Amino acid sequence: MNALFTRFPKLQQRLPHIPLADLPTPVERIEAIETGLPLDGLFVKRDDLTAPIYGGNKVRKLEFLLGQAKREDARAIMTFGGAGSNHALATAIYGIERGFDVISMLVPQPAARSVRRNLLMAHKTGAELHLYPDKDALKQGVAHVAGMRRARDGKAPFIIPPGGSSATGALGFVNAALELLAQVDAGDLPIPDAVYVAAGTLGTSVGLALGFALAGATVPVIAVRVTETDLANEEKARVLFQETNALLRGADDAVPELAFPERGLVLRHDYFGEGYGVYTNSDRRATRMMRESAGIPLEGVYTGKAFAALLEDAEAGRLRGKTALFWDTYNSRPFPREIESYDYRRLPDEFHSYFEETGPATNAD
Ligand SMILES: *Cc1c(COP(=O)(O)O)cnc(C)c1O
Repeated sequence: MNALFTRFPKLQQRLPHIPLADLPTPVERIEAIETGLPLDGLFVKRDDLTAPIYGGNKVRKLEFLLGQAKREDARAIMTFGGAGSNHALATAIYGIERGFDVISMLVPQPAARSVRRNLLMAHKTGAELHLYPDKDALKQGVAHVAGMRRARDGKAPFIIPPGGSSATGALGFVNAALELLAQVDAGDLPIPDAVYVAAGTLGTSVGLALGFALAGATVPVIAVRVTETDLANEEKARVLFQETNALLRGADDAVPELAFPERGLVLRHDYFGEGYGVYTNSDRRATRMMRESAGIPLEGVYTGKAFAALLEDAEAGRLRGKTALFWDTYNSRPFPREIESYDYRRLPDEFHSYFEETGPATNAD
């Protein structure tokens, strides 16, 4: 099911797209948490279940990004992220499955169990992994690795920006917003008064806000920032919104030109804590509550922070009389057992410290 193509059939011909996700993802009411809070309804959009092998929010973006890579007849895809990037892993899993080589250009982040697991899984999947100590080294690395690829393949790799948050990637969440509204129409949930979602590189939150605006729905997206402000800020949100709107209009002139919804997309800066990937106490508490009450696994880098914002807004009485929706962006599909015994020494040397005691500061998880 693709709600965007249903609404604008012309887009189906014009926008390359590879179906990867099982859509629509379920919406569930979390009564065990809701009853203890002064609000009218608490729902979760289960994008942790976007696909059977590996879910999470990146699958929706990759439907359009890999579609574009295929249209451009790419051999290799190069993408970016922190060492434990869910986006880089999702790109490896679905890119390699579709016959692309996948190159991950990574930078350090605090060690955690989820970081180690993602690294092992990406390597086992066959991704080419590189780790650079800082932005300058990364930049040189990109020139070097892309140059070698160009020489070998006769063409440069297809570039997917960090988090998959280009206009093309954001289309996945324009579609997701329309999908949620179809679930509202079907009576699965009342129209939410607020959607809380983690904001890393903004493709998810901007795509959602654009989709709601496109449908003329007033559904404020509360985008809880979990990355540094150079990646997630109001100006970037505005630019990505306009680029995504322009991409849609270029493909189908039935798509209206939309004004950036000032109240439809609110960036929240108060849950970031000490840094990207550094867990906070409220983040741990929110993660624990969701696990114990609903059996849904969150983590401390993204979803714990976003759900903490919802919980604390509710506890402070700011959601009285309202229906809140938490958009779960984290993969909850279990990793294959073999990952537990996969030897980290098969990874390039620069990654070994993540698995050794002398490695980067570790989050307790
Ligand atoms: C990448 C990611 C996000 C952030 O999505 P953006 O579109 O980059 O803002 C949120 N949650 C999880 C679990 C992610 O992996």
